[in-house]
Amino acid sequence: MKLETKLVHISRPDEFTGAISTPIYQTSSYMQEAPDVNKGFAYTRTANPTRKVVEQAIAELEGGIAGFAFSSGLAATDCVLKLLKQGDEVIAVNDVYGGTYRILTTVYNKLGVTSKFIDTTNIKNVINAVSDKTRFIWLETPTNPTLKISDIKEIAKIAKQVGALLIVDNTFLSPALQQPIHLGADIVVHSGTKYLSGHGDVLSGFVVVKDSKIAENLKYLQNTSGGVLSPFDSWLTLRGIQTLYLRIEKHSQNAQKIAEYLITHPQVDKVYYPGLKNHPNHAIAAQQQKGFGGMISFTLKNDSLEAAKKFLTRTKIFLLAENLGDVRSLGSHPATMTHKSTPEEVRKETGVQDSLIRLSVGIENVDDLINDIKQALD
Ligand SMILES: *Cc1c(COP(=O)(O)O)cnc(C)c1O
Repeated sequence: MKLETKLVHISRPDEFTGAISTPIYQTSSYMQEAPDVNKGFAYTRTANPTRKVVEQAIAELEGGIAGFAFSSGLAATDCVLKLLKQGDEVIAVNDVYGGTYRILTTVYNKLGVTSKFIDTTNIKNVINAVSDKTRFIWLETPTNPTLKISDIKEIAKIAKQVGALLIVDNTFLSPALQQPIHLGADIVVHSGTKYLSGHGDVLSGFVVVKDSKIAENLKYLQNTSGGVLSPFDSWLTLRGIQTLYLRIEKHSQNAQKIAEYLITHPQVDKVYYPGLKNHPNHAIAAQQQKGFGGMISFTLKNDSLEAAKKFLTRTKIFLLAENLGDVRSLGSHPATMTHKSTPEEVRKETGVQDSLIRLSVGIENVDDLINDIKQALD
């Protein structure tokens, strides 16, 4: 079956009742026939039928053997990091999601796990960074907010050589546009808050693995740490996933047209979008992705915080918000929002200039979106 078909049928009729829409099993525990004799469910932290459906769905979409659902993307990330022990080292892409950077540098470093942040778009940097302590290589591709692309296949080979696991945070593209496990990754992480759920109404996080031993360890950690996804939020995410293909196709089409419009506007300086031929990683994006996604960043000729602020408060359809992957178009200002706590020099080194604006392009009519951008820029 093609992905569009799989997605629509991802929520299978309920085993017990035949209900077409997966029921929300809003229960914390389950009656047992005798001590330790049950229908596979005892307590909802350990297993819940609604959560089980969304966990199987994400595993299938990413091509893994098991999926785990968490109460947020960071709870998912945290659970994967708990596979590590004191003395282990993580090599991560240098513009990794701010929350991932924060948990590595302020929580796991205290527990004796060290992290190195490097530009993984250049394979040589990865080869030079790995050591015999490297347990994880943690990628995001594309990255936030300057949309750098790393070669998953090549980095998977390096990870294998040094006995490390390759983890890919696939939030920005979703399995509709990129399946890291098929490219050699060991673990996929998601903030389901973004494209998977797609409507800006739920927080969720996922982990998908391809190895049964790692699956067993994660199942243990998920139940032991307890940051699981609630039945209702499992249902909301599942509901979102059914229209993922339609949404992501429209997000990508709109973003391509907007990126092409932005490069023609006299107020605009740089435009970051992997679908543009002049994007430095366009070739690798075209090779490993099925589309270029809905995220665009750009800078203004007037490179100031004030100019960016003016633009973001003048758009009428693009709403100023931290989120992304919503059906609604959103705009954000990394320098004062997501990267506020990054030192100015470090921030500018990774391309987060004062005027950098990030757009999460929604599924509205593209002419309306372009007109909104035009009137704000003018
Ligand atoms: C939002 C996000 C996260 C964290 O997810 P939450 O659901 O907000 O906890 C992790 N990685 C990426 C790339 C994100 O965009």
